[in-house]
Amino acid sequence: MKSEKIILMNKEILLKSRPKGRPTKDNFEINDIEKPEPKDGEVLLKSKYVSVDPYMRGRMRDEKSYVPPFEINEPIRGGIIAEVIESKNENFKKGDYVNGSNLQWKILQTSNGDDLKKVDGNQAPLSAYLGVLGLTGLTAYVGLKNIGNLKEGETLVVSGGSGAVGSIVGQIGKIKGCKVVGIAGSDDKVETMKKKFGFNGGINYETTDNMKKAIKEACPDGVDVYWDNVGGETLDAALANINKHGRVINCGAISMYNDTEAKKGPRHESTLVKKSVRMQGFIVRDHQDEFEEGIQHIAKWMNEGKIKYSETVVEGFDNIPQAFIDLFDGKNEGKMVVEI
Ligand code: NDP
Repeated sequence: MKSEKIILMNKEILLKSRPKGRPTKDNFEINDIEKPEPKDGEVLLKSKYVSVDPYMRGRMRDEKSYVPPFEINEPIRGGIIAEVIESKNENFKKGDYVNGSNLQWKILQTSNGDDLKKVDGNQAPLSAYLGVLGLTGLTAYVGLKNIGNLKEGETLVVSGGSGAVGSIVGQIGKIKGCKVVGIAGSDDKVETMKKKFGFNGGINYETTDNMKKAIKEACPDGVDVYWDNVGGETLDAALANINKHGRVINCGAISMYNDTEAKKGPRHESTLVKKSVRMQGFIVRDHQDEFEEGIQHIAKWMNEGKIKYSETVVEGFDNIPQAFIDLFDGKNEGKMVVEI
């Protein structure tokens, strides 16, 4: 009988050049590469779901930050759910699924297992470990817990409200008894925030001329807590409506990630002083000691039907760069992932 050898195809995606402004597909290069052989102590991984995230845009700049920049002509790195297809590491066996937060954009790669966490596809769909049960869900949890300090009856406004982080922020706000208003870039997203995620109100910033007025109308009692995913003019408009002792959680500023020059805007110092506002940023990875507690809370709320989540699943390894670029056009609802 003719013996059949399974040939595993491998590919990688490199950062070819640093984007100037909005990223394009030319900033990436896709190559066919050899299948690697795991050494003793290593596993061979096959990527199953690849996370694309707005923060990766920052790593494409040659700037010192809380994570090192991606190197030119090196594979992009990020969160990936992968299957162990060969194991020479006693902690993992063939068929295990793992979540790695710093794996390379490759179909096949080896790992010594240090950064890998096993995930159970019977407990939740595997892709959920990149979103609601992963870093984006935890971002919402730790930001609200440490900075938001939500109180029942308060008004919480969240920008990027139908996205991976924002949709969970708003739903935790509802669990805590707040009135929640989401801001997003389409009428469909506003509908989803209200119908699926239970927000009290929603604003489509793309069709709104005066965001300050729109927030005022949606929040007649003012804004107690503003969760900022976008920065820029939306932050200005939220601060114009902030209440005394308000809290502003600076999670991200996606509207500015592709800027090539710093923009000028209103100065907020006197608002912060006069209204005793606390405005604070944070990085989710600095809160690792709260991750287990955070996942337990989120999983419990999901089981109780209090937290729902959306995903936009793009298919095909070669489509990873486009999926990443599409984040800046708001083409995702909920967590953007690529299925390999
Ligand atoms: P999302 O799922 O929210 O996807 C990005 C969304 O941003 C798009 O769908 C789009 O929605 C919106 N957007 C894109 N461009 C603009 C723009 N110019 N102005 C306003 N909105 C825009 O991504 P994540 O949930 O993963 O991330 C949300 C934010 O949280 C990002 O700023 C990210 O950097 C930050 N973050 C911070 C972390 C931390 O530790 N501090 C950890 C994880 C994420 P729309 O159609 O509504 O415009």
